Amino acid sequence: MIAAAPSSKREAVAQGEGLADSRGRWLRDLRLSVIDRCNLRCQYCMPADVFGEDFRFRPLSELLTFDQLTAIAAAFIELGVSKIRLTGGEPLLRPDLPALIRQLRALDDGVDLALTTNGLRLAAMADKLREAGLNRVNVSLDALDPEVAARMAWRPVDPQRVIQAIETAQACGLGVKVNTVIKRGVNDSQIVPLAKLSREIGVTLRYIEYMDVGSTNRWQASEVVTGTEIRQQLKELSEVQPLPGEFGDVARNYRYTDGAGEVGFIESVSRPFCGSCTRARVSAEGTLYTCLFSSHGLPLKPLLAQGNALPALITKAWRKRDDRYSELRKSAKKDSVHPEEMWRLGG
Ligand code: SAM
Ligand code: SF4
Ligand code: SF4
Repeated sequence: MIAAAPSSKREAVAQGEGLADSRGRWLRDLRLSVIDRCNLRCQYCMPADVFGEDFRFRPLSELLTFDQLTAIAAAFIELGVSKIRLTGGEPLLRPDLPALIRQLRALDDGVDLALTTNGLRLAAMADKLREAGLNRVNVSLDALDPEVAARMAWRPVDPQRVIQAIETAQACGLGVKVNTVIKRGVNDSQIVPLAKLSREIGVTLRYIEYMDVGSTNRWQASEVVTGTEIRQQLKELSEVQPLPGEFGDVARNYRYTDGAGEVGFIESVSRPFCGSCTRARVSAEGTLYTCLFSSHGLPLKPLLAQGNALPALITKAWRKRDDRYSELRKSAKKDSVHPEEMWRLGG
């Protein structure tokens, strides 16, 4: 096993002295996909008419094993990564996930371990995930109205079940945030009801602008509801005031001036943040991507067999990194590349 990074390494990274890419963005975060399959078919991510019942996901035997995932995480920690987020697909479909979390926690006590989930299986697992060493969960919830939720997810979803999972996770001591993607004409009616709920249960909600990631969601710019529009609607509940952020933050955070907590906005379309993007992604079968909009990546599996080769190869790939798709969106010729789907590369 590769030794974990000394905490001094993390401090150096926090001060901007980490491994920098060609645009001076240091490597700080790793999104590790543990599975490609999902129990929902959100229309902005995995549309059901493209990925139907008979769609063949990767068999579990082709996915990185827990030891391989741990070796990859160790290499990233050695390079200064201090935040690891498990994702997918739906990560809670990966059998025995708490065992992986235990392995990752054993690498380094100080690393921030988080998970993004649609919440359907969370209530039953929250306790075990916390015990294994998970720090935080982000739970995706796009609607309180079950009909709207089902239209977004293309499958029946009981929002109450997800809310219950959020409360269970909070009670277990996990840090919890809610992620909401708004698509105009589909769930924009849910902006204020979701904000009300988050204020009531004391959880920070982050509105994510609908992105043109992948090549199957038939994204149209007109379907994006921007952070500015959402903030306008939230005035019905309270004024909001921006809070200071840090380099590498994806969300711009605001506080409700009436004291009812905070709300975040991930405005990748209207206010891209590529200039401070510190995130690397590894897909469930082990390919490293340096941007959500990458059309190709570096397969890590073959390198795992070569002893301690990973940190040097990741370093080389990161130093070369020049990605900034969201900043170039208007001029980028997306048709000329074949971008990967978000659920494949670890959203
Ligand atoms: N299945 C888990 C979930 O939904 O939370 C984890 C994987 S999912 C790909 C991670 C996050 O990506 C979710 O919060 C989801 O809402 C978001 N997402 C997926 N497709 C998106 C898109 N086209 N634009 C913006 N966010 C998207
Ligand atoms: Fe599944 Fe998450 Fe994609 Fe929805 S957003 S289809 S829950 S991977
Ligand atoms: Fe990072 Fe790529 Fe998104 Fe820009 S477009 S913020 S470089 S993932």
